[in-house]
Amino acid sequence: MSKNIVILSGAGISAESGIKTFRDAGGLWEDHPVEQVATPEGFAADPVLVQRFYNLRRAALKTVTPNAAHIALARLQSEIRARGGDVMIVTQNVDDLHERGGAKYVLHMHGELKRVFCTACDFHADWDGDVSVDTPCLACRTVGTVRPDIVWFGEIPHHMDAIDRALSQCDLFVSIGTSGAVYPAAGFVRVAKHYGAQTLELNLEPSEGNLYFDETRLGKAGNTVPAWVENILAG
Ligand code: NAD
Repeated sequence: MSKNIVILSGAGISAESGIKTFRDAGGLWEDHPVEQVATPEGFAADPVLVQRFYNLRRAALKTVTPNAAHIALARLQSEIRARGGDVMIVTQNVDDLHERGGAKYVLHMHGELKRVFCTACDFHADWDGDVSVDTPCLACRTVGTVRPDIVWFGEIPHHMDAIDRALSQCDLFVSIGTSGAVYPAAGFVRVAKHYGAQTLELNLEPSEGNLYFDETRLGKAGNTVPAWVENILAG
């Protein structure tokens, strides 16, 4: 049985909870081109629109719940840890559905909707409500410098050292619901393979990097993930 597992999740794992993926919307994020709402240049050009976009996404979290895939991964994490192993969940998602499904150890490499930071003093904080261009930083009180703690295109993802370490030590790497189009996450399968891990893809359709996986299981995450977790825990 695999004892040291790294999971990479993407927007597909939250699709059945009702959060739209990028690819299903033709490269748009909730009807906006990514350049407009997911780049530092887009934010500089129209901070009011970008803050409103993330306020709506943050508020929408209250209307969705974790699905069977999130819950199964949380169970996997707790049972493998109880047996002396480790399951690191690395997610590209900015929603909080892994945590609400019960997962305890989740690295949000692309940030979190429910976090903000100040571009003036770098103070990071949990945030549940709206942010506006008039919101003062809780630490330095500067106005107009609080932004969503989301890693936009062109910015460096969070937790890369911890992720690299985990990829070099895992014996199984599993990618769930990600198109394999966004780097560096799309390259993780090759890093894990280089260090000797088995690799498995669970997705609705083969991702762009599908040839790097030892095994692929196609289907909705709400079906494939619980079934795979049952296999692993029984093995
Ligand atoms: P993506 O939209 O590029 O790809 C989604 C993948 O999930 C596709 O391969 C698709 O076939 C698959 N998929 C769709 N429904 C599925 C289901 N029910 N079960 C299993 N797989 C399913 O998403 P990505 O690869 O995560 O990359 C896009 C970027 O978009 C990420 O950086 C992420 O930060 C951001 N994003 C996040 C959210 C979120 O937090 N939930 C939502 C949209 C976009």
